Amino acid sequence: MLAVAKRVVFPEAFGTQLAARPGEKTFMVKVSSLRRMTPDTYDRNIIHIEFDTSDTDLTYEIGDALGVYGFNDAAQVRAFCTQYGLDGEQLVTATRDGQGQTRSVHSWLTHALDLFGRPSKKFYTALADFATDEKEAEKLRWLTTSEGSVEFKDRVADTTTYADLLNEFTSARPSFLYLVDLIAPIKPRHYSIASSAKMHPGSVHLCVVTVEWKNSKGELRMGQCTRFLNSLNIGDEIVVSVKPSVMKLPPLDSQPVIMAGLGTGMAPFRAFIEERAVRKLQGVEVGPMTLYFGSRHRAMEYLYGEELEAYHADGLLSGLQLAFSRDQKAKVYIQHKMREDAELLASQMLNQDGCFYLCGPTWPTGDVKDAMVGAFTKFGNIKAGDANRVIEELKESERYTLEVY
Ligand SMILES: Cc1cc2nc3c(=O)[nH]c(=O)nc-3n(C[C@H](O)[C@H](O)[C@H](O)COP(=O)(O)OP(=O)(O)OC[C@H]3O[C@@H](n4cnc5c(N)ncnc54)[C@H](O)[C@@H]3O)c2cc1C
Repeated sequence: MLAVAKRVVFPEAFGTQLAARPGEKTFMVKVSSLRRMTPDTYDRNIIHIEFDTSDTDLTYEIGDALGVYGFNDAAQVRAFCTQYGLDGEQLVTATRDGQGQTRSVHSWLTHALDLFGRPSKKFYTALADFATDEKEAEKLRWLTTSEGSVEFKDRVADTTTYADLLNEFTSARPSFLYLVDLIAPIKPRHYSIASSAKMHPGSVHLCVVTVEWKNSKGELRMGQCTRFLNSLNIGDEIVVSVKPSVMKLPPLDSQPVIMAGLGTGMAPFRAFIEERAVRKLQGVEVGPMTLYFGSRHRAMEYLYGEELEAYHADGLLSGLQLAFSRDQKAKVYIQHKMREDAELLASQMLNQDGCFYLCGPTWPTGDVKDAMVGAFTKFGNIKAGDANRVIEELKESERYTLEVY
């Protein structure tokens, strides 16, 4: 058999399941390092992953995000195949993304279809049409009506998946080709790049917190992509893309940079700091950099703590303000640390063309803005109403940037 024919017939064996998706430039990168950053005993699992990009033409700018195409868990897929009565080895050709693809049933469900993702109402309706048990058909249709909306919402809140529905409504047995049509494709997830290409040529780093929860039955569920990333081994190859982001270093090396990051929101700031560290090594005079970093406990989640301390000692990181919210009785958050620095914030933002960045979860956005408004009113001679307008202007001129998720 010709090599190319073998690749189509036995895609798993030849890795063609990793092939690029149409319409997006993708790259195959290799895991070169993966370590857990939080102690094993701690409930939050945060990992640092490095990918070797040296065999690719992948390039990225500071602040870009990496799109990761994650796969489903092979064991979970096998269990589903058994329950649904599918032969995982059977080859199936179907059109996806406008092109014919031949994969085994197992590969379709592991590499292409979001089997453990959230089904839309359309899927419930489509499944009803296949249900041979009238009661099941009725229930599925009812769930899509206004009368069934409370239970539908409960099911969404309980993170019901395509697989859950197919296992619950056992009289609905669409053929596999219909499943390929009805189940949405796995979507890539984005992760802020945590490295500078100048400091780490041929490599790209991520800082990822795994997402886990229990449904109402007490079953452990894991986020599609973070489960995948957490299960990788050194040498594994994965498909990624590069997505430009709003997180850009200011145009001038001399401009002050003020960064506020919570948890994995630290990722792009590690890249910022590394980029400026390289510039400094090259003899360029770089402006002040202040980091406000927040997490729960210093001993558990001081992400890149040793590196940060070294940059602080070196003076590159002119300010390092840490808010470990649960290390003392009173909760301390990044906005509290920013309030302590009100004079510096007003001076760098209003008089020195400074740029402010917030990255991580959405919840501190309002409090952080209030801290900035407080700084402008107290030390910038600006009225509260005007301070809000100044922040809007700073946003317009890309000097007050949020990347929250
Ligand atoms: C620009 C950008 C940068 C980012 N940078 C980082 C970063 O540096 N580090 C980082 O850790 N993360 C980052 N993220 C977040 C990341 O993209 C993912 O959203 C996150 O990792 C969760 O992905 P997942 O596939 O593991 O979880 P998912 O499977 O997408 O699940 C996420 C949530 O969706 C809900 N959900 C899942 N399944 C269902 C269902 N069947 N029905 C209903 N609800 C459901 C659950 O509430 C779950 O908690 C970034 C996001 C963006 C947009």
